[in-house]
Amino acid sequence: MSEAYYREALKHPIFKKLSDTAGELSLETYVIGGFVRDFFLGRNQKKDIDIVAVGSGIALAEKLAASLPGAPKVAVYRNFGTAMVRHGELELEFVGARKESYSRDSRKPAVEDGSLDDDQKRRDFTINALALSLNREDYGRLLDPFGGMDDLEAGVIRTPLDPKETYSDDPLRMIRAIRFAAQLGFRIERDSFNAIASQHERIRIVSPERIVEELNKILLTDTPSVGLGLLYKTGLMDHILPELSALQGIEEKEGQRHKDNFWHTLEVVDNISKKTDDLWLRWAALLHDIGKAPTKRFDKKIGWTFHSHEFVGSKMVYKIFKRLRLPLNDKMKFVRKMVMMSSRPVGLSNDSVTDSAVRRLIFDAGDDVDDLMTLCEADITTKNPRKQERYLKNFGLVRQKIAEVEERDRIRNFQPPVSGEEIMAAFGLQPSREIGVIKDAIKEAILEGEIPNEAGAAWEYMLGKGRSMGLHPVPGARTHKNESDEGAP
Ligand code: ATP
Ligand code: MG
Repeated sequence: MSEAYYREALKHPIFKKLSDTAGELSLETYVIGGFVRDFFLGRNQKKDIDIVAVGSGIALAEKLAASLPGAPKVAVYRNFGTAMVRHGELELEFVGARKESYSRDSRKPAVEDGSLDDDQKRRDFTINALALSLNREDYGRLLDPFGGMDDLEAGVIRTPLDPKETYSDDPLRMIRAIRFAAQLGFRIERDSFNAIASQHERIRIVSPERIVEELNKILLTDTPSVGLGLLYKTGLMDHILPELSALQGIEEKEGQRHKDNFWHTLEVVDNISKKTDDLWLRWAALLHDIGKAPTKRFDKKIGWTFHSHEFVGSKMVYKIFKRLRLPLNDKMKFVRKMVMMSSRPVGLSNDSVTDSAVRRLIFDAGDDVDDLMTLCEADITTKNPRKQERYLKNFGLVRQKIAEVEERDRIRNFQPPVSGEEIMAAFGLQPSREIGVIKDAIKEAILEGEIPNEAGAAWEYMLGKGRSMGLHPVPGARTHKNESDEGAP
């Protein structure tokens, strides 16, 4: 095999510097992994660069850092024998070349020093084992012992060594194979696929954090159904999101069938991914029908039903997020709310939609109302072009109505036009249940369209409501909320 050199991959001045430093330490040194792969793919170069030194990667990191402007700090991970240096926007990861051996119950290997070849053998895929020399004698030379370039060319995910062992040693590689296939548009070579499919249950020894990191990357690809479909077909989905696997299948009773909610969901995720890069909105699409498996019933009169699947599904969101160690913060609440509200706009998408129904939707969805509409539009997966057009048009009308109502009534981020303190002052009340009742009545009157969302109207309404409850306004109390502003400096 003729030797190929790729010095243009190393045009960033940091590589020359690395080469000189390694030379001074007499350390054989290479760039390896994602940076090299993405150079050949012509992909946007990432900012993290993996460097392997035959010897101490930490020593190389420390000497390099000392010679850089501002002498950046070296983050040393002694347990792993690795180090990291930030230089401008680059993140340089250093490791000493190593040989790994695994035990059955852990994906953390026993490690010993090794050659470059040993280090390339421990890599997950041939395309991730490509290395470029930083050594003076052969600067820019490609080291590709496993045919990684051919696999890049052919678009194939293949392991350097026996796939059964490679995936069994570190089962995280199973989901990484799928993630790279999905990101790069590659196919997983047959032996690899079979090895994954036959030992998918070993994913159980991998921590949820690492799984979800890969799952999120799959969700952020252009067409997530590719990776999600592979997770399902290999059996991995049953361990990662069994609630989603449970949606697969079509049942027929008395000639009535329901749709396959698993493949429908994947289509919805693809649809929404054309409209948004927001990971959490994509999660909402992934989970929007999750409550359909536990709520599925067959009714002799009306056929298949999934009563209150939105409610049941929204309850499942928290459990899934907790199990997968996803954040239990606003992101989770957002996804839960989207699932909960996912059918609301459908109910509004006919001609007779009332302003008050729209106001209630805006009130309940708040700032997330646009995302909710995006989700509903993505939920249209009918193959009938006439129906598709009609549904889309109807949602377009709902969007228009939302804009009109919002312009007039400002329901988003609704602030009560009369505060609790003002109600107390008006009737000379101590904190009590009545105040909540009156506040609620004002809100309802606004949503129902009985009064406009304005302080003056709300004040009058409050007085009337209070009187009907047997309360008496304090004599001399202001007649209009805004008067409190008068005379202010
Ligand atoms: P990206 O940064 O896009 O995820 P990458 O290839 O740089 O792609 P990293 O996770 O950053 O992936 O890992 C860097 C390199 O380390 C990989 O290219 C691969 O050679 C190796 N590697 C990472 N994880 C594993 C693993 N679980 N098993 C074997 N090798 C791995
Ligand atoms: Mg990387």
